Amino acid sequence: MKKKICILYTGGTIGMVPTENGYAPKQGYFRDAIAKIPDIHEPGMPDWDFVEFDPLLDSSNIALDQWNMIGRAIRDHYSEYDGFVVLHGTDTMAYTASALSFMLEGLRKPVVLTGSQIPLCQLRSDGRDNLITSMLIAGEGRVCEVCLYFGGKLLRGNRATKASADGLIAFASPNYHVLAEAGIDINYHEASLLQPPKYVPFRLTEFHQTSIGVLKIFPGIQFNLFESIMTEGLNGIVLETFGAGNIPSYDNDLLPIIKKAFDHGAIVCVCSQCQNGTVKLGTYETSNALTRAGAVSGYNMTTEAAVAKLYYLFSLGFDRDEIKKLMEEDLRGELTK
Ligand code: ASP
Repeated sequence: MKKKICILYTGGTIGMVPTENGYAPKQGYFRDAIAKIPDIHEPGMPDWDFVEFDPLLDSSNIALDQWNMIGRAIRDHYSEYDGFVVLHGTDTMAYTASALSFMLEGLRKPVVLTGSQIPLCQLRSDGRDNLITSMLIAGEGRVCEVCLYFGGKLLRGNRATKASADGLIAFASPNYHVLAEAGIDINYHEASLLQPPKYVPFRLTEFHQTSIGVLKIFPGIQFNLFESIMTEGLNGIVLETFGAGNIPSYDNDLLPIIKKAFDHGAIVCVCSQCQNGTVKLGTYETSNALTRAGAVSGYNMTTEAAVAKLYYLFSLGFDRDEIKKLMEEDLRGELTK
């Protein structure tokens, strides 16, 4: 039987048109535009339905409400389709892919995010291949996870990060093997794919607003400026530290502030500014102090995945000890210890 997929169109450059204020999405335009791509009617393509979100957004404006809307659309139509393609702007695509990977538990079908750097209506658009190949991957059903297809590569969603503002290979997965490469054929790297869950039923966890911060450490940082955010109101903070999890120790301001945040109940997750490699707390004196202040290791998680995971665990209503523990565990293939 012919496979059937659902395309969820949220906005982004792929469907944008030029306006006097720059590119912007246009409601009601894109469905017809993609129906005009000759390849889409080829016999090898899956059948497809198209759902247009309202309003269509530049992905800089995407936040929890839209993540929940995408999640609900997938949950409500889960049994009707073999896979889903989510058309999305590139700017926050890695955040949305990470968020959906946690929200959708027990997934047994592909959910493929894609978009483009050049609008489909423009010369040399990368949108055509990104869309067609994503549709094929969604229809083939070989992956059962949230992933991101862009520029010939299929990446695990919660390992992806936007690595180029203008290149057509805009995403990288520095700490995890690509899931598939699309050359003449689409070659899957079987050993890297998540296995279909045996017992966990499919379910959606919607995200609730949670006060989360990201703090990038830099030489000369005046930690006292950040003290005002480390209050009872803060639920979690991702620290983007140097190398394997190091912070400066030239003044003694940071640790008391982190300790204060921790004592107020916040989760402090240590990630690295390096794209490649992992946090190893305790390797150096400068990172050991973080563990003593109650921080947890984000290992080789991207900041995007760490932020999404904090939203997820808080949305599940776990207590702090449970969240601390789960932050360091691999839930959806987002980290390797
Ligand atoms: N600003 C656009 C967006 O993220 C960029 C893109 O789609 O490439 O929606």
